[in-house]
Amino acid sequence: MAKYVFITGGVVSSLGKGITAGSTGTLLKKRGLKVSILKIDPYLNVDAGTMNPFQHGEVFVTDDGAETDLDLGHYERFIDETLSEKNSITTGKIYSHVIKKERRGDYLGGTVQVIPHITNDIQERIIRAGEGLDVLIVEIGGTVGDIEGQPFLEAIRQMAVRVGRENVVYCHVTLVPYLEAAKELKTKPTQHSVQELRRIGILPNILVCRTSHPMDQGMKNKIALFCDVPPEAVIEVKDEPTIYNVPVSLHRQGLDDLILKNLGLSRDIEPDLSDWLRVVDRYMNSPECVNIALVGKYVQHKDAYLSVVEALHHGGISQGVRVNIVSVESEDLESGSPDEILKFADGILIPGGFGVRGVEGMINAAKYARENNVPLFGICLGMQMMAVEFARNVCKLHEAHSKEMNPATIHPVIHLMEEQENLKDLGGTMRLGAYPCDLVEGTKAAQAYGNLHISERHRHRYEFNNAYRERLEQGGLKIAGICTERNLVEIIELPEHNWYIGCQFHGELKSRPVRPHPLFDGFINASAKYMRNRENN
Ligand code: GLN
Repeated sequence: MAKYVFITGGVVSSLGKGITAGSTGTLLKKRGLKVSILKIDPYLNVDAGTMNPFQHGEVFVTDDGAETDLDLGHYERFIDETLSEKNSITTGKIYSHVIKKERRGDYLGGTVQVIPHITNDIQERIIRAGEGLDVLIVEIGGTVGDIEGQPFLEAIRQMAVRVGRENVVYCHVTLVPYLEAAKELKTKPTQHSVQELRRIGILPNILVCRTSHPMDQGMKNKIALFCDVPPEAVIEVKDEPTIYNVPVSLHRQGLDDLILKNLGLSRDIEPDLSDWLRVVDRYMNSPECVNIALVGKYVQHKDAYLSVVEALHHGGISQGVRVNIVSVESEDLESGSPDEILKFADGILIPGGFGVRGVEGMINAAKYARENNVPLFGICLGMQMMAVEFARNVCKLHEAHSKEMNPATIHPVIHLMEEQENLKDLGGTMRLGAYPCDLVEGTKAAQAYGNLHISERHRHRYEFNNAYRERLEQGGLKIAGICTERNLVEIIELPEHNWYIGCQFHGELKSRPVRPHPLFDGFINASAKYMRNRENN
């Protein structure tokens, strides 16, 4: 049976619970345990698929096609395990399941209630997610005290009764704010938030305190005394220059030892953190810096392109350069001059997105990069706009779209497939999750992967239109990757260009700090070369 680490948050949201959960996972895995992480989101949406990137940041897609909270991305990057639909639950998912069962008569006419029906359903999902593991880490989204989080807190309280107190650890992530006027750190919000947890019957074993200033031992003792935990269980997480330092910092303070001790697990295996130390060292200390323009349409929200940003840094870590990412609002490239706006860039990345707003700016960016031999990487919508730009400006195919204007189909080189057209009234179908892709020998993509058969994750409706393949190839575009089973174009590239690759899939979702995605690695490599050439000239 799995043991459980429950992670709650107090005082304010955005404390980095996801990073704490991911880092804890890294450490436990390095101590020889089989671990995974489950995210609980107390919102009513059934999944993150319909959530607005401006409000909620990126939607993370798993191999099995689940559209999930971006914290699952942190988990995969930290624990280097592939997660699935069962690693993400929301209030919406739980309620719709319980209500479906009620309609079916499964409760035999009994009164269906939050306790025990909702709380039981939550516990069953937690147990299912933990099957076959040594430890399941469960992160409860939101902040203790939120109305919508209560059934989840009650469920994890009951879990201790269900599986035994010795098999669960409660870890509470809280804020210890620094008051500028008083020039000191304050423990009161932490005390109150722990009181709130205890009021509902959860006694935290470990407190992870987020601070901007170092905490002295006296402060830790005070928190320990008021919150009823041993002083060594008060762990400090200062704001770090990189999140990848968090596992190292938590280990130095003994977090993994503490969890193992609480769970009665062996502490014999010493974790080898050399790969993380190397990641941090390279991230912080690489002498050169590459400037990447991220030409997107959701650039105001810092998390809208989270995995892309992380994957760019992974490429930098691997290539031994720092990556300076400059967000460029794609609409600005419609009114302003792309040459002026983009001239700083050693590489240009056009990420995914939905809707027509800003696509002409993406097309202008693609044209600028193609004509000036600047490394260009297009992802999903980015790749689609590269194809449109090429069709228009190189192949001189200026056809108007035959049907009504679809968001991404501003040129028929990108289209909805016939089978999807029929389903349009239902919102169309999205290609979601992992699909195999075969690479063409001798292409830059094949060289980057070092392998001809890959699998990558998708999240899109539109596809490259095969009716245009030949004409674009005649114009010099190379089709470098194909989903053979569906005869779909997955990767385009320009052999004569420094580095010009567009892919229909989201490679960023599979990139890891210790194992960068091949295309991001290749893109940063090309951008670094471009930068050095520029400096020498
Ligand atoms: N809007 C485009 C499509 O649906 C691209 C989607 C994306 O970039 N994720 O195909």
